[in-house]
Amino acid sequence: MPITGPVSPLPGAHSVLRPLPLDAVSLTGTGQLASWQRVNRDATLAHCVRQLEESGALANLRIAAGLESGVFRGFVFADSDVYKVLEAIGWEAGRAGGGAEMFDSFVDDTVALLQTAQQDDGYLDSFFQVAKPDEKFADLRWGHELYCLGHLLQAGVAWQRTRARTDLLEVGLRFAGLVGQRFGAGGVDAVCGHPEIETALVEVYRVTGQRRWLELAHRFIDLRGHRSVGEDRFGYGYFQDHEPVRTVPGATGHSVRQLYLAAGVADVYAENGDPELLAALERIWSDVHRSKMYVTGGLGSRHRDEAFGDPFELPPDRAYSETCAAIASVQFNWRMLLLTGEGRFADEIERALYNAVAGSTTSDGTAFFYSNPLQVRTHRDGAHEQAPARRVGWYDCACCPPNLARLVSSLQHYAATTAAGSLQLHLYETGTIDLGGVGGVGGAATVARIRTGYPVDGVVTIEFDAPFTGGEVALRVPAWAESWRLTVNGEAAAATVSAGYLRVPGAGIRSIELVLDMPVRLRRAHPQVDAVRGCVVVTRGPLVYALEQADLPGSLVLEDFVVDAAADAELGPVDADLGVPLVRITGARRAPDPGELYPVASGARSPGGDAITVTAVPYYRWGNRAPGGMRVWIPTS
Ligand SMILES: [Zn+2]
Repeated sequence: MPITGPVSPLPGAHSVLRPLPLDAVSLTGTGQLASWQRVNRDATLAHCVRQLEESGALANLRIAAGLESGVFRGFVFADSDVYKVLEAIGWEAGRAGGGAEMFDSFVDDTVALLQTAQQDDGYLDSFFQVAKPDEKFADLRWGHELYCLGHLLQAGVAWQRTRARTDLLEVGLRFAGLVGQRFGAGGVDAVCGHPEIETALVEVYRVTGQRRWLELAHRFIDLRGHRSVGEDRFGYGYFQDHEPVRTVPGATGHSVRQLYLAAGVADVYAENGDPELLAALERIWSDVHRSKMYVTGGLGSRHRDEAFGDPFELPPDRAYSETCAAIASVQFNWRMLLLTGEGRFADEIERALYNAVAGSTTSDGTAFFYSNPLQVRTHRDGAHEQAPARRVGWYDCACCPPNLARLVSSLQHYAATTAAGSLQLHLYETGTIDLGGVGGVGGAATVARIRTGYPVDGVVTIEFDAPFTGGEVALRVPAWAESWRLTVNGEAAAATVSAGYLRVPGAGIRSIELVLDMPVRLRRAHPQVDAVRGCVVVTRGPLVYALEQADLPGSLVLEDFVVDAAADAELGPVDADLGVPLVRITGARRAPDPGELYPVASGARSPGGDAITVTAVPYYRWGNRAPGGMRVWIPTS
């Protein structure tokens, strides 16, 4: 039996593309995505399990279960850290080449602990059971009970799908039953202050076939925007309760809340086809991607409330860009890709994955950023809100690391899809696709073997074990790609791009080679992004580059370097330590200023002195050497 992965629209859903089975795609090479999955399996998951103990998250549940005495530790939503780790291990357990056996006893013990901690009526939330037993469901604005339940349900769905293990989902369903009684049709009209349960309930509907869960998700979405969360210093937009979903003009408020809600709305739309929901999603998506997204795919410029700023309010040094927001962007864009089949959504998955998400962790997978700024000044205040200068092992608010773990353990799932006998390739990485388990795709072809050095180079080859016939093979041509060459069965082929994909008819395809040219490009921002006016960013293919103090010569301070945007930027060698391709750019030392904070403008001087060539590293590898300044946007004067 094929294993179903995360986000699996039912047959007949309003979804143009269909996910492949979770175990159909294997990322097998030494590329970035495959390496990331290995590190996640070998280091990050075990690290997360240890931190659940050290942080008190598991102890909270033991106290709730009456197995220990003590006080609740951590944030009110600490249970969700446990659930996200369980979900991550669940997807790892279903991945071809995955390895979750080492966590079997942890999973067994934790499920048993949850069963013990759960009350007879189904309630399960260690914060309220331990710290505020008389205030259950009394503070939906900040209580996170339904948010935690959503993560519990997603973990249960993962184990049901990958190992046909039902006990974890049963715990979630008992709690969901209580929530349905209280907040379902005819019950209390209220929403959780942090969306998440909406997307989880749709997945529960898909697993159980019980329509009441889809209806409950739909109800929670329709209840939003009626200001039931009550007044708060952050305003209703923070909680996504400012405006009914059907009439929202765009994206606002807390970035993660906004995008988790959008993911839930997309899931409901997939199953019921309500066109107003799709129109709202398009408005949210367009607003984010046209004026509220960093070039790294990071989201959220306001530290105070972890929120989107105004349109074009994208300061690089004050970027909040929470890791969870970039992960949520992947989740939202994946759903939009399935719904529409349009490559622009896969482009944004790629942008977030290779930059903001990848940059959030070290190469050994055991330290993490919560906030992902695009500039760190040389003289930086070390104690900086949720934005430490270096990645750290865990956070008091530990939402990001286990979120990363569950994304990476299912990463192969986002590489390819199918539709009407066709195959679509969205992410390029060396590996195999088992077509044998995907009924009717490719005719006699049972295996597709993909080889690529992407994103170090843009050469992608696909070979089939037997001629691919029937539908088409669609290969994403990213929006950044200015030119490409296509070879089919060893001969140059012409094909046009539609909706972001080169479409090769399935008329006996044995092999395809796609070459995406990847020149280094300096890009500027929209002129209304005032914070980086007069600056450029170095890009190559999907990668955004950064300058670090560690790469500057002699006494040159990062803030004193100005780039010559007219000079050629060149690809350098692959750095042996960082394992990534470098880029060399040319500029000069900024002309000495008179030392005034606000000198007269008419006396401005141009940079002078000898040309200086410096090396930029991919953004995702910044902060892996000596502490020092970093900047993505480089001034031209
Ligand atoms: Zn987070």
